[in-house]
Amino acid sequence: MSDPVSKDWNYHPDLPLADPSIFVWPPRAGFLARWFARNWLSLSERVMMVLLAAALWLWVYPDFSVAATWQWGWVLHVWLANLALVFICAGALHWYFFMRKGQGMRLKFDKRDMAKGNALWSFRNQVHDNMYWSLGSGVFFLTAFQVVTMWLMANGYALTITPMSNPIWFVLSLILLPIWSAFHFYWVHRLLHVPLLYTHVHSLHHRNVNVGPWSGFSMHPVEHLLYCSSLCIHWIVPSDPILVLFHVIYLGPGAAMTHTGYEDLLIKDKRRLALGTFYHQLHHRYYECNYGNQEMPWDRWFGTFHNGTPEGTAETRARKKQMYS
Ligand SMILES: [Zn+2]
Ligand SMILES: [Zn+2]
Repeated sequence: MSDPVSKDWNYHPDLPLADPSIFVWPPRAGFLARWFARNWLSLSERVMMVLLAAALWLWVYPDFSVAATWQWGWVLHVWLANLALVFICAGALHWYFFMRKGQGMRLKFDKRDMAKGNALWSFRNQVHDNMYWSLGSGVFFLTAFQVVTMWLMANGYALTITPMSNPIWFVLSLILLPIWSAFHFYWVHRLLHVPLLYTHVHSLHHRNVNVGPWSGFSMHPVEHLLYCSSLCIHWIVPSDPILVLFHVIYLGPGAAMTHTGYEDLLIKDKRRLALGTFYHQLHHRYYECNYGNQEMPWDRWFGTFHNGTPEGTAETRARKKQMYS
């Protein structure tokens, strides 16, 4: 066990980071059962996203059937709903952690606050810069993929199911969508780290060495295009509107939830909600490591895993040098 406080970090989990990949062979039944229970049988961030998707489908988004013909009315409706969704989710997390300082420095990885007065950022302000890219380009691309998906579904070009007609496939889809999204993200992310694309596109996201909720969805438009293309899975695999909305929430507000800069939300000193990972925080600081997320095995299989130790940092630095030599 290592000291959770070091000269590099305000807080970090026990190091080296464990390997909680769900893809280990042979499968470990107890581990998988605990993974399932943690994610799906408690009020986890995933379950909250499904509940939110159902509520938004009922009360906020237009009925998918209106998308059969292109009209500005419903397209604008979807865009406005997405704008409000990202604004409220990222805004609420930012308000709680960085304005109200509801948790102080407890479980915060980086010692620093959000940057101000630095010409690296538009408006000389990291938060305002991050909001600009998230709400502008981010909401635009999220909406673009969503409205095309709605149009394809409304016209029967993409097959649809309902939770009633295919309950098993519906539930299975909920479980598989985050796994699909993580798989898609890993490969898109590797591509974005090809030096040419990194310099012109992905470096915009990486200016956030220290991250906050608004950093998650703050990307270059080309990165938004690639990142949101995860939604194209609904063009091929039969889906339901709630599944599409869950996926939209997972990509947009979900990015704010994984970039809070804190590990968990504490309520009365108990960890209640996982809101960031040291795994991705290491990626933001050391770049050429941990392209995926901890639950997927890709970084370990392809030798890009940084376990948080000084040895991991040395390996990552050597890889970076080789990539740019
Ligand atoms: Zn990130
Ligand atoms: Zn990256």
